[in-house]
Amino acid sequence: MAMRSPYRAATDHHAAAETARAQRGTWVLAGIFSSTMSAKTAARLIRTGSEKYVGYQPAGAFEAYATPTGDEVTVWVRYVAGEEPVSPLPDRMTVRIRHDGDGPGYSGVGIVTVTISTRCPACGGPRGWETVRPHHFHHDGDQYTVDRWTNPCGHTDMYVAVLRESRDRQLPPPAPAPPEQAAPPAEDGPVALILTAAASRRGMHAKQAALLLEEHGHSDAAALIRAELKERRGHMSAKGAASFLRDLAKPDPDSAPTSTTTRNVP
Ligand SMILES: [Zn+2]
Repeated sequence: MAMRSPYRAATDHHAAAETARAQRGTWVLAGIFSSTMSAKTAARLIRTGSEKYVGYQPAGAFEAYATPTGDEVTVWVRYVAGEEPVSPLPDRMTVRIRHDGDGPGYSGVGIVTVTISTRCPACGGPRGWETVRPHHFHHDGDQYTVDRWTNPCGHTDMYVAVLRESRDRQLPPPAPAPPEQAAPPAEDGPVALILTAAASRRGMHAKQAALLLEEHGHSDAAALIRAELKERRGHMSAKGAASFLRDLAKPDPDSAPTSTTTRNVP
């Protein structure tokens, strides 16, 4: 299947914003990042109308999300300012697909209901969740129904990949929470560095935290703190910077567990 996408890669945010403004409600690829943290920060700054991304101002004129595609993380935006409401993009979609079982020699037709992301795994753009429609087929005299959909990006979802995706997204049940705090941060991680320093420096500011991180080679994290500091107009303590970084590292709602239920039709 030929891969076709109407969206072009754009690190030029001015162009991305222009393109999105010209097609209100349509998601446009705005950037490709190598880290989840930077992508999520960019999406947030775009939504909040940050000075860093003037093309997307004012705050709330654009929606933005970050989503992984292979080794990269893409940021998608859409222009939503105006009177007419724009239908929200759900995080997930539930569809029926055909899956005739994993084992060899299985002869029945299986219809499986899976819940998957509404983001295309190939490009990160929205899947055609609004185009989901039933498709009927016959097998040995019985009628079955599966779902079909058309992705606006042109990428085609194969049932095998969709099934794998829904299974990959299954997370193990959460471990019982320890009474105090969860696992301590990695010894030499940016968060731990800040917290250790802040413990011995009363009133330590986020600006000092950023400097400290830079000294220890965490320039990406330092840049994120500086961007956030600007957003908060200079009001952030070192501890605040640590929890900001910790929040960024938290998984997206996107990566929350999803369900798969199987109904095999003999
Ligand atoms: Zn796609």
